[in-house]
Amino acid sequence: MKSWFRNVTLATSTIARGMYVTLQYFVQSYRRKPFTQYFEYPEKPVPIRPRYRGFHRFDLTTCIGCDKCARACPVDCIYIDKEKATPPAKGFVVTGFKIDYTKCMFCALCVDPCPVDCIFMGSNFDLSTFGRDGCVVDYAKLPLEVASGQATLSPTANASRRG
Ligand code: SF4
Ligand code: SF4
Repeated sequence: MKSWFRNVTLATSTIARGMYVTLQYFVQSYRRKPFTQYFEYPEKPVPIRPRYRGFHRFDLTTCIGCDKCARACPVDCIYIDKEKATPPAKGFVVTGFKIDYTKCMFCALCVDPCPVDCIFMGSNFDLSTFGRDGCVVDYAKLPLEVASGQATLSPTANASRRG
């Protein structure tokens, strides 16, 4: 009988302590401001760390179309279109440089092999889009200041590059 009472007391106190913790968090969640009161996308974006690895930045004017970045990519999400340059020019003219961000895992393995340093990881995370097509970014079709600068890859930019 004694052990029965001990078990009942133990069970009751354990439940009461658990409920107290739950109640504490319940009250805290009312006191805490919601995330949207601190940040309002896109006017007040979430601040990012200095070494944040975001969408790529790419300089079409220096790319030589060597394919080294595409070969280094572990998930094959870089698609390069190129044509032979008209003689007397040598090499290739890059006509398309697409990165599929539905597959990219931001590992940056494409950056190091580039012999002319024309691709690097940027600090932008803005690629809001209404469909998956918008996640395939053709950097060769973007204005240079968007493709290689820190400007947003916003839906407006998406629309202009698809058009
Ligand atoms: S960051 Fe990684 S996954 Fe993304 S394109 Fe570069 S190599 Fe491929
Ligand atoms: S490695 Fe550099 S130069 Fe070669 S295709 Fe990729 S971005 Fe262009």
